[in-house]
Amino acid sequence: MAGDVLEMQDFLMNTVVEQKICSTNVAPAAIYSASLSKLRMLEDMMSFYSESSEVSLINHNAGSAATRISAEMMLVLEQAQEYAHVSQSAFNILLAPLVQTWRKAGAENKMPTREGIMEVLALCKIENLILDKNENTAYLSKKGSMIDLGGIGKGFAADACCEIYDEMGASSAFVNLGGNVKAIGNRPDGNPWSVGLQHPDRIRGNCYGVIMCSDLSVVTSGAYERYQEIEGAKYHHIIDGKTGYPSESDLKSVSVISKSSIQADALSTAAFVLGLEIGMDLIYNSECIGAVFFTQANEVYLTKGIKQNVRLLERMPCYEA
Ligand code: ADP
Ligand code: MG
Repeated sequence: MAGDVLEMQDFLMNTVVEQKICSTNVAPAAIYSASLSKLRMLEDMMSFYSESSEVSLINHNAGSAATRISAEMMLVLEQAQEYAHVSQSAFNILLAPLVQTWRKAGAENKMPTREGIMEVLALCKIENLILDKNENTAYLSKKGSMIDLGGIGKGFAADACCEIYDEMGASSAFVNLGGNVKAIGNRPDGNPWSVGLQHPDRIRGNCYGVIMCSDLSVVTSGAYERYQEIEGAKYHHIIDGKTGYPSESDLKSVSVISKSSIQADALSTAAFVLGLEIGMDLIYNSECIGAVFFTQANEVYLTKGIKQNVRLLERMPCYEA
């Protein structure tokens, strides 16, 4: 009864996007074509690098003028503000000036100075982003402030794809934007979709566990995939806005399970920065289904109630907390 199945891969939003679409009444190719257009549109809206994106227009006008934005962009920015609020700014879309400072440091193999970091930090306060819902505008109050949706955009896009799959009547579907996964329904063989949990210390594709996810999203943030070397030491790409330095988390990775992929994306980044204890509280205080924490000591901690969704593939210390 699953109907036709289509599997496609594209490179979008700076990552590999994998879609599996099963449908009986509407051709999967038609559904895929709709979701692909949507992804292209969202990339044009949220890209940090494309000069014509809404993000770039807002960034360009920082300190001088408010920018009129689309309703969809307003939605992303409002949610980003909300996730900053609930995470004590551990999740913060205004960290772009710091991300750039660290990227430059990597390219030049030269550590930034503490004074330099402190100066840049002032540009990164989430309060510098002012949204006006009546005028449909976004304004960055300080020249040099910049929005970077790298920590939330893929989640928003995964939700958008699944909305299209649903609306167009797919019987089941799965989308993976570079590790940011969301699935609807069950696999064509009737079993739930499963998402591998990447082992933080091993090559890509080597998983320590699996999460069953029907009508759920799973998003992992970790320090393992994207890092650079500066003066002989490794620095990864998730920034702690309190210090201005790459986060010194007691975690190697966090995987968050939620019905909403934008929530899982934002809160996985936040929980990673906050570390095991406060990150766990953040998840419990949210509407997420739960989370899997992989610590620097190679232990796994599960939030209560998700044991039945998670299967570990090897023997390792595992606690429910
Ligand atoms: P990935 O993009 O590797 O899946 P994340 O979702 O955790 O990882 O987002 C990390 C990206 O978000 C970084 O590459 C950077 O552009 C931006 N970023 C870095 N630190 C933060 C942070 N504390 N809050 C929000 N975004 C961040
Ligand atoms: Mg994220």
